[in-house]
Amino acid sequence: MTSSWLSPGKSAAVALTFDVDAETGVLSMDAKYAKHAMTMTHQAFGPDIGVPRILGILKDLQVPATFYFPGWVAERRPNLVAQVAEAGHEIAHHSYSHVPASSMTAAEERRDFERALEVFKNQGVDIYGHRAGLWEASWQTASLVAEYGLLYDSSLMNDDRPYHVPTESGSVVELPPHWSLDDWEQYAFLPAPQIGSIIEEPLKVLSMWKYELDAMRRYNSLFMLTNHPFLTGRAGRAEALRSLIEYGQSCDDVEFVTCREIAERAKADDSLATRPLQQPDIEAGVFPTS
Ligand SMILES: [Zn+2]
Repeated sequence: MTSSWLSPGKSAAVALTFDVDAETGVLSMDAKYAKHAMTMTHQAFGPDIGVPRILGILKDLQVPATFYFPGWVAERRPNLVAQVAEAGHEIAHHSYSHVPASSMTAAEERRDFERALEVFKNQGVDIYGHRAGLWEASWQTASLVAEYGLLYDSSLMNDDRPYHVPTESGSVVELPPHWSLDDWEQYAFLPAPQIGSIIEEPLKVLSMWKYELDAMRRYNSLFMLTNHPFLTGRAGRAEALRSLIEYGQSCDDVEFVTCREIAERAKADDSLATRPLQQPDIEAGVFPTS
């Protein structure tokens, strides 16, 4: 008899996650954007206005959430990290620089990973989980997560329920996200750098995410919502987020849980899949290379 990652009587779990990328989202593309006042202030809206606004919604509705901070952002805004932690939410590791791990050497990725851990340690913040910048994990990311004693990762996508990932440094729990539950694909618009070119109607997004939650109740899935305060912190979108949470709360079989809580439960759930990581072996000449 194994314990279940879902509470008794629950059909789906909602993890509300907020990636506080702030300026790193664009600086990780090119440091030259530090000179662009509009671009920098557009990104700073996230920590300046978005996070406090989202904290207010979470407090009003009494739901827990997980905030993923790049170490660079935490270092510059220690009071914000403390404010989120004091509100009872989880703080998680979102790289140091937000540069995708898949574009770094193994040594660079390790250094970036460690540097963020040092920031959180200096601030007295306990860390249980990790999410790669842009979800672009390398094949070694999960083993770094295990090696540094973290419980879970949230970057990989071959399931919509938690699963176990064995690595050479021990097993980690994967809490899979997906683009369809990410506000970036709905709301990201910026001319330079071009991080996206869409501004969808919040009511459309609300409708789409409610539909997904209903479907996930049938399949006992993890509704991993990934939002960015510089996007969802805007007023109409924050309103849609509030409505989405209220809808979830109106469903008796839906629970709201932090990533840490889900990962702890999943760790003890042997019925969940185990999916080893394996880079496909590519025979020369079959596929084009650049
Ligand atoms: Zn991010």
